[in-house]
Amino acid sequence: MRVHNFTGGPAALPEAVLQRASNELMDFRGMGASVMEISHRSAEFSRIAEDSEAALRRLMDIPDDYAVLFPQGGATGQFAAIVLNLVKSEAGEVPCYVDTGYWASRAVKEAKRYGEAVIVASSEAQGYREIPDPSTWNVPDNAAFLHVTLNETIGGVEFRDEPSSDVILVADASSNILSKAINVSRYGVIYAGAQKNLGPSGIAVTIVRKSLIGRGDRPVPTVLDYAALEAARSMANTPPVFAWYIAGLVFDWVESEGGVEVMAKRNARKAERLYGFLDENDLYQSKVAPQFRSRMNVPFNLQEESRTKAFLAAARDAGFIGLEGHRSVGGVRASLYNAIRQESVDALIDFLDEFAASAL
Ligand SMILES: *Cc1c(COP(=O)(O)O)cnc(C)c1O
Repeated sequence: MRVHNFTGGPAALPEAVLQRASNELMDFRGMGASVMEISHRSAEFSRIAEDSEAALRRLMDIPDDYAVLFPQGGATGQFAAIVLNLVKSEAGEVPCYVDTGYWASRAVKEAKRYGEAVIVASSEAQGYREIPDPSTWNVPDNAAFLHVTLNETIGGVEFRDEPSSDVILVADASSNILSKAINVSRYGVIYAGAQKNLGPSGIAVTIVRKSLIGRGDRPVPTVLDYAALEAARSMANTPPVFAWYIAGLVFDWVESEGGVEVMAKRNARKAERLYGFLDENDLYQSKVAPQFRSRMNVPFNLQEESRTKAFLAAARDAGFIGLEGHRSVGGVRASLYNAIRQESVDALIDFLDEFAASAL
C-alpha cells in the first residue's frame, strides 16, 4: 500500500512515473535489458537525453540562448560550480548572496571555500521567517553575481514575486522548480537538485545563459564545468542514467497533466488549504510571515512542543510519512511537491483535526 508521503526529499514521485518505470524495468523498450544496463552512448539513451532536455525547455519556456545541463553532485555541487564557473577572481569579483535560511547559508559556506563571499541581506535575525526586502539589498560594485534561494525547503519561505537585479542573478530552485512558471530570462543561472520536484537524487538541472559559460577564471572540475558539460551534452563522464531517465518521465508526466500552470494552480490550492487549517487551529502554529509562506514546504509546530514525538508516531500509524521537521529545526514539516495530491493534503488535514480533538 502507498502511504501519504510528505517527506522533504528525496520526495514522493508521481505514481504514474513509478508505474511506467516498473513496466520498463526488465525490458527497456524492446532492448531486453534495463535502462541501467545499456551504454549511455547508445541511440536509446541519447534519445532519453534529447527528449528530456526538449521537454524541460517546453515546460519552462527556456530561451534558445540558454544551455540546459544535467550535472551530477546535486544542488550542493552547483554551490561550488556557480563560483568556479562565473567569478572573475583576478578582477576582484566576489559572489554575493541573499541569506534567507539554511540552504542559502550552505551556498555561502561552499563559496567561502574558494575565497570571499558577501551576504547582501539576511533574515537570520528574524529567525528566517521572512525574505529581506529587496530595497535593503546592498550589492557591491565588484559582485560577480547575486544568488537567491527561490524556496527555502527547511524554513518554508519562498519568493512569491521573482527577484530582479542589475547583476547576474543566480537562483537555487531545487525545491520549487516546475511548481509554477519561472521567468528564465531574468536569471544568468537557475539550478536544482532533482530529488524534490524533478526525480530521484543523483542528478541536477542547470539552466545557464550561454554567454556566461566560461566566464570564471579558475579551474573547474570537469564534472562541474559548464563548458565541458555543454560540449559533451552532459556526458563528460558516465551520467547517472537511471536518475536522468526518471527525471525525463517526470517531465513527461508534468506535460501530460497540463504543464506548470496546472501545477501552480494545484499547488496553490493544496498550500492554501493547509495554511488555512493551521491558522484556524490553536494546536498548530505556522510561524512564517504569510506573504513569504512557501507553497512547497509547510513547516509548523505543535503548541506544546513536547507532544511532537507522539504526534509524529500517531501520524506514521495513520499512514502519513516524512512529516518530521528537518533535523536542524525539529517540529513538523509537510512538503507539498507536484507529486503530492490534493487527496493526501485533505487526508492530512483530517488527521490533524482528529489529533487536535483527541488532545483536548
Ligand atoms: C535539497 C536542497 C539543496 C541540497 O541538494 P543536494 O542535491 O542534496 O545537494 C540545496 N538547496 C535547496 C533549496 C534544497 O532544497
